Amino acid sequence: MTRDEQTSQQVHTIEGIGRALADRGLDIGQLARSMRAVSSESDVTGQIDGPPWRAGDVRALNMNLVPADHGGCPALQSLAARATLMAYLGEADASLALALPGPGLATPPVLALASAEQRAQFFRRFESDTPRWGAFAITEPDCGSDATAMRTSARKTDRGWVLNGTKCFITNGARADCVITFATINRQMGRYGIRAFLVERNAPGFTVSRIERMAGLRATQLAVLSYADCEVTDDALLARGDEKPLDDAFSGAQRSWDYFRPLLSAVMVGTCRRIRADLAAWLDAGGKPADNRQGSASVSAALLDIDRQITAAWLLCHCTAWKTDEGTATSMDSSMTKAFASRVAARVTRAAIDLAGIDGITACPSLEQGYRDARAFDIMEGTGDLQRLMIARAAQRSTSRPWNIAEPA
Ligand SMILES: Cc1cc2nc3c(=O)[nH]c(=O)nc-3n(C[C@H](O)[C@H](O)[C@H](O)COP(=O)(O)OP(=O)(O)OC[C@H]3O[C@@H](n4cnc5c(N)ncnc54)[C@H](O)[C@@H]3O)c2cc1C
Repeated sequence: MTRDEQTSQQVHTIEGIGRALADRGLDIGQLARSMRAVSSESDVTGQIDGPPWRAGDVRALNMNLVPADHGGCPALQSLAARATLMAYLGEADASLALALPGPGLATPPVLALASAEQRAQFFRRFESDTPRWGAFAITEPDCGSDATAMRTSARKTDRGWVLNGTKCFITNGARADCVITFATINRQMGRYGIRAFLVERNAPGFTVSRIERMAGLRATQLAVLSYADCEVTDDALLARGDEKPLDDAFSGAQRSWDYFRPLLSAVMVGTCRRIRADLAAWLDAGGKPADNRQGSASVSAALLDIDRQITAAWLLCHCTAWKTDEGTATSMDSSMTKAFASRVAARVTRAAIDLAGIDGITACPSLEQGYRDARAFDIMEGTGDLQRLMIARAAQRSTSRPWNIAEPA
């Protein structure tokens, strides 16, 4: 039995995940150290400086988020394992953790909407020693929170489809080899008119118009993508090819958010852990709190409060990941996790800055960087306001509560 097969019994500790990835050539300890080393530089340049990976790491990084039946690491298939890895890498640098190669947000819609052949073709491109990125494009300049109002159009032609429109704020959009693009065949049909297309970087009419100047998460390089009579072939339309009608590609986007909200929350937990560790190290080395009336007891109380919040966010994140792996999580679980974790990230980064003051911020750049990253966390994958709206709506509809765990069948 290979180590992969042995570890396919889901591994949830970072040590176990590290061992399984080491078998695939990736040393995550070394990767995290290199990410820390280039963290400040990447924050200034908005690039993946270094890069922090070694040539031998690339294939395993590309294959992160690839299902095991398409060659992905069996030990990394559960959402709980992936969340553990993202918290670990987020602790090194949140922005770089989200900018690492791999299919990223494109995986869930491909799994939900593509045919077996499309899936195989899509995941095959990541079996490479060259870094490859996927991206997910739904947001537009005039619609973000209400994505069903999108304007990007898809028109059927004899040769395939023609897409017209603009997408914005697309994570890794400028470096992506392919972009899962959502477009409407008829705006009057609302969400039921939405379809998903796999657009290759070199598709005629597709261009990266701009990379945004960001306050936080700079290395994720949010891009504006332009589709000007962009031609794609028939098989670019993600279509399962089974008997189910393809009238709800928007549910593929929803799947992506449900799956990624706990992962993004794990990155936020990592950011908070890093800030907590850097702040404590600075205080231990003799750093003085900004408010010189604060005695050691009140500093300890502030640190304990930070610990309490980080632990609560991690437990919620892990619970949702575990429920997802059990097949019982709902959109509400994911929304609660993301809304809570981004509030924790905002509070922890704020508390750390208040405690450290100008001397501490100067000595620990991660505090100020984390504070800026926390603003972006609240917006991406649905703003905090929208998560709270969705939670309220789901709570009104639901007869059970999130803390009720379904009985095994
Ligand atoms: C770091 C980052 C990465 C991202 N990555 C991607 C990506 O890879 N792919 C992609 O497609 N998009 C991506 N986005 C876009 C993101 O999903 C949108 O920014 C988000 O959905 C909000 O949309 P908007 O910016 O248009 O804001 P708007 O929807 O215009 O919202 C503006 C404000 O109004 C509030 N608001 C809106 N509607 C309501 C309502 N009904 N009730 C109460 N308040 C409301 C919002 O909370 C917000 O505060 C990313 C964004 C960020 C910041």
